[in-house]
Amino acid sequence: MTELALECRCGKVKGRVHSVNLKQGNHLVCYCQSCQNFANYLQSDVLNEFGGSDIFQIAPAFISIDLGVDQLKSLKLTDKGVCRWYTDCCKTPIGNTAGAKIPMVGILRSFIAKDQDINAKIGPIMGNVYVKNLDSPLPQSMSAPLSEKRLIFRMIRKILLWKILAKGTPNPFMNSQGKPIVKPHKI
Ligand SMILES: [Zn+2]
Ligand SMILES: [Zn+2]
Repeated sequence: MTELALECRCGKVKGRVHSVNLKQGNHLVCYCQSCQNFANYLQSDVLNEFGGSDIFQIAPAFISIDLGVDQLKSLKLTDKGVCRWYTDCCKTPIGNTAGAKIPMVGILRSFIAKDQDINAKIGPIMGNVYVKNLDSPLPQSMSAPLSEKRLIFRMIRKILLWKILAKGTPNPFMNSQGKPIVKPHKI
């Protein structure tokens, strides 16, 4: 078990994922329009050359924000969509939360501190989701071991497991009523 350091670009916001191992979370790339809209809104260079966002999904209870909580901002692109988080200081995309009932936070690669061996800690990309959004199939070099179906199945299993283990709280992005600590704004 090892710790994964989290940090925005300018260093005002810092956090940690406590005790990561290669099997604990889901490491994936999402090609959905909403992730792309979020990155574009922040004018972030987080997307890969095909428009994918590199995401590490983990239960909220494993995450803490240790510094700069007052810099957190949240955003909802649609009424029903996930709550997306970024830092006010340097507009670093942090990731997303999906409401109190789903004990999972998707942390974007842009919020994982660079000065550590990230792949050794969270492992390689397991799979790609929303690839049907792409105009042409991903090149072989971007393929990942799990199919989209198997990855989603794994995600659901993880959510159920984290529910059973009560890993949905504490959640650094939500208060004790399960509401975002910062009211999401619209664009
Ligand atoms: Zn910052
Ligand atoms: Zn997405």
